[in-house]
Amino acid sequence: MAYSRVGAVGLFGLNAYAARVEVTLLEGVPEFDITGLPDTGVQESRKRIAAALKNSGIPLKSVRRIVNISPASVRKTGSGFDLAICAALLSAQGTVEILPDDAFVGELALSGELNPIQGILPMALALKESGSKRVFLPSDNAKEASVLDGIEIIPVSDLNALIRHLTGLQPIPPTPRYIPTAEEYAYAVDFADVKGQKHAIRAIEVAAAGFHNILMVGIPGVGKSMIAKRIPTILPPMTFDESIQTTRIYSVAGLINPDKPLIIERPFRACSHTASAAGIVGGGAVPSPGELSLAHNGVLFLDEFPEFRRDVLEGLRQPLEDGTIHITRSAAKTEYPCRIMLVAAMNPCPCGNYGNKHTACTCTDIARIKYREKISGPIMDRIDIHVELSGISYDDIKSGKSYDTSERIKARIMKSREVQSDRYRGMPFNVNSEIPSNLTKQYCTMTADAETIVKAAFDTLGLSPRGHDRLLKVARTIADLNGAEHIEKIHAMLAVQLRAMDRKQK
Ligand SMILES: [Zn+2]
Repeated sequence: MAYSRVGAVGLFGLNAYAARVEVTLLEGVPEFDITGLPDTGVQESRKRIAAALKNSGIPLKSVRRIVNISPASVRKTGSGFDLAICAALLSAQGTVEILPDDAFVGELALSGELNPIQGILPMALALKESGSKRVFLPSDNAKEASVLDGIEIIPVSDLNALIRHLTGLQPIPPTPRYIPTAEEYAYAVDFADVKGQKHAIRAIEVAAAGFHNILMVGIPGVGKSMIAKRIPTILPPMTFDESIQTTRIYSVAGLINPDKPLIIERPFRACSHTASAAGIVGGGAVPSPGELSLAHNGVLFLDEFPEFRRDVLEGLRQPLEDGTIHITRSAAKTEYPCRIMLVAAMNPCPCGNYGNKHTACTCTDIARIKYREKISGPIMDRIDIHVELSGISYDDIKSGKSYDTSERIKARIMKSREVQSDRYRGMPFNVNSEIPSNLTKQYCTMTADAETIVKAAFDTLGLSPRGHDRLLKVARTIADLNGAEHIEKIHAMLAVQLRAMDRKQK
């Protein structure tokens, strides 16, 4: 009896799991069975493997072949097991020798070449964590996997190249680790490009410092999208772990740029109000990540916020609260992370001209109120800061002055983040927006003057307890940006200003 066992890997959603492919060759009628909960895609690998071997001129012994993929409890999907099954077959019949800590992943073309597959990064990570020393994968996937250290990446172009390597005839050099260059870290846009709108960008600075969600209200053409697009440029640089987390999601979605396989810029995802709930939250039979997850560790921008369908906005509530999306599909569960800064934008009224000095608003009072009511309630409860953008003045254009450069804003934000992470050391959160409500009082300490302002705001604006907490957290961030230990009167006053929609509702 000939037997072989090789390392393999499977994927469900974002979750990759290390697997094993076993092959036994038996005397008897030539057959080719695969067990271990394979779906049709995996079953079809029998035909791909037979054709690929034949077209590569590699003889396959005419015997009974039994293939088992473990763990047996997990349904195996897709074509990524082709290479592991093929390697195990070749090893069982003595064509090649495979080391115990070798793993294989990739889809075979009928020609014997390897096709790239989606999700290679989480797969390579799972293999590394399960103790594999080396992974053989399609050449076109090699750079994507090479962002990891601690596991050797062997790029395979076709079956003959694999055999030459495994028999020692012609070793394939491992892919060198990919380390992004300094130029790749540079963003193409900058806050220095935005003329005027100092009040709004200052609010954005506060929002980015405390990782608060923000709503911008302003007439069309005033620069809301332009400002939103530049928010990633002032957030702290991604840590390597954050880069890997975000890159995994893009890997599963098949959205990796092969030349820049590691995502090192915080993502900016803009979503149109015509997007479906599945497009935003994620879904499908084999769940693919939605915009919320593609924005993980970065910014999700929802323009024309009141135009989004109610069920779509409602669907954002739980993910925004937890930073995670839970998806269940036919008894299998998967999770996608979505720790994002939500940036929403809206016109002041349906026609867009309410408050415009140059064009009159044609909306009725009732239409305006209804428009704002569309975003009221639970979703507004997740948005800490609201800011109104004024029209661009002639002076703004003439002076050409901007609020500040992205680099300088980022430096201030990073300083305030240090203060925040020192304060929350050992806690499960590290930014002000994530202070749980039972700890708000402990961390958002105020001077007596500041408390007077907050109390007045609470009484006149009719804030809810949650609204009150949000006001305190924003004031905490403003105090941190100013290096103050306690929230002072001026910080509280600025925070009240950054709750524009509360004032409007009165
Ligand atoms: Zn109007």
